[in-house]
Amino acid sequence: MAIPDYCDPRAEKHYVNSFVGSSHGDNGSMYGYRYDSTSGGKPTKMVHTSRYGRLCAYCGEKGLPLQPFFKGSFDPDSDSRVVGHMCICKDAMDELEIEQAIKDLKAKQAQEMKDLEATMPKPSNSVLSKVMAYRLKVLTEEVESGNLEALESFGVYVKR
Ligand SMILES: [Zn+2]
Repeated sequence: MAIPDYCDPRAEKHYVNSFVGSSHGDNGSMYGYRYDSTSGGKPTKMVHTSRYGRLCAYCGEKGLPLQPFFKGSFDPDSDSRVVGHMCICKDAMDELEIEQAIKDLKAKQAQEMKDLEATMPKPSNSVLSKVMAYRLKVLTEEVESGNLEALESFGVYVKR
């Protein structure tokens, strides 16, 4: 088996060259390429049909199963669950690439916003101190003139 013609170069990593036995391999060799469902592919857009199963939404080829937990038939920890389907065509690869670019852009933007917020000017301590000093002066005058309720704005109560 060879890598299908419609395979985008970015998807070739999902094919492994493996022993196929006898002389059925590529160019009469004993090796051939086969799709590897454990090679870390990501789901791409599929048209789900009851009759033909999953078909690529872009090129109509049959979706290839993704089995990230499959470790071989003889491994007791192996899990052959199919978590999705992918296609290897150009549009499917574009879909994944654009999706990743959007993710990266959002992360970059979030970081830039955080950096920008960190450069935001802070309220002046000297202004705050002056305002507080003025408030304290007024409050002190109030208390000295016998208005103890004025203390309540500072959370101080004079009562039984
Ligand atoms: Zn496709």
